[in-house]
Amino acid sequence: MKEPAPVPLPRVEGAAFSGVHVPLIERYYERLPFEPGDKLVSLQEGSTPLLRAPVLSEMVGATVRLKLEGANPTGSFKDRGMTCAVSAAVREGAKAVICASTGNTAASAAAYAARAGITCAVIVPEGKIAAGKMAQTLVHGARVISLQGNFDQALTLVRELTATHPIALVNSVNEFRIEGQKTAAFEIHEGLEGGCEALCIPVGNAGNITSYWRGFRELGASPKMFGFQAEGAAPLVEGKVIEHPETVASAIRIGNPVRWEDAMAAATDSRGAIRVLSDKEILHAYRLLASREGMFCEPASAASVAGLLKYGADGAEQVVCVLTGRGLKDPETAMANNDGKIIQCAVDMARIEEAVLGDP
Ligand SMILES: *Cc1c(COP(=O)(O)O)cnc(C)c1O
Repeated sequence: MKEPAPVPLPRVEGAAFSGVHVPLIERYYERLPFEPGDKLVSLQEGSTPLLRAPVLSEMVGATVRLKLEGANPTGSFKDRGMTCAVSAAVREGAKAVICASTGNTAASAAAYAARAGITCAVIVPEGKIAAGKMAQTLVHGARVISLQGNFDQALTLVRELTATHPIALVNSVNEFRIEGQKTAAFEIHEGLEGGCEALCIPVGNAGNITSYWRGFRELGASPKMFGFQAEGAAPLVEGKVIEHPETVASAIRIGNPVRWEDAMAAATDSRGAIRVLSDKEILHAYRLLASREGMFCEPASAASVAGLLKYGADGAEQVVCVLTGRGLKDPETAMANNDGKIIQCAVDMARIEEAVLGDP
């Protein structure tokens, strides 16, 4: 029988990648510390959409796009780093990986470890992990250690532990994480044909802003890097370690970022800045994104947009906001912060009519 002719995929403006989807490491072999033939641990991460945001564009008077990192396999950008970190760990013969996490690193490490057939342990601050992230980590079969302390203490402990035990550390102190995450900058650079003038991004442990800047620099590009921290967890803005970081944006609830110097260098060298936002401003952007742009991200991710709305982009015309993780990760925050409405209704047509069509 004659094979049907392949239908070419249409190239759609705003689609970051059309064609056969390949694992991130294969897409960027020549720029990553891997060789063809290395056994890769991949869930087909990367190649995420770069979506136009018409409402935001109108509001700030620039062309604003959203880099949808929640489209990665476990719902956050951590997968870009994790495919590299876990592939490298397996290449080096590791049988286990470990991380400290505010949630997404744990979910990602657990998934990639499951895929690789190795064990995973995660240390998380007690009671501080969003429900979706905890559910993922558990269902992938990781060992979850709930620490009576904060993220920074968890990270100090895993660093000590991995110094004396043959377990691979997959936090963003791991160079492979930074290498993998820089590919998002490549995708933006390709998608906008080098036209990105400003990048807005939430900053927690500061691995991601470090990665983006490295990625852009490798291509000779230098968009302004605008990083955003939450008021109760803004060590880079205050210039000092925060002992008890607090914010609704749990993914950036970090008081002592491991990539401190790198993040400051990214902001300074790109003529950008690291700035601060209140939880109220973050939640306003969170609801705006969901209700006006149709994009449900997690609270930390909305900091990129909140920052753009508050501070502008210093005259840049092509702006990209990184939406680092998916809204479903944190259903509690969504349920507590929305303008939606649930109307109780009896099984009765008159009541239904009133509920559906009546004044809100
Ligand atoms: C990890 C994470 C961040 C912060 O990234 P850093 O590299 O720690 O600065 C922001 N948003 C989400 C959703 C994350 O998972």
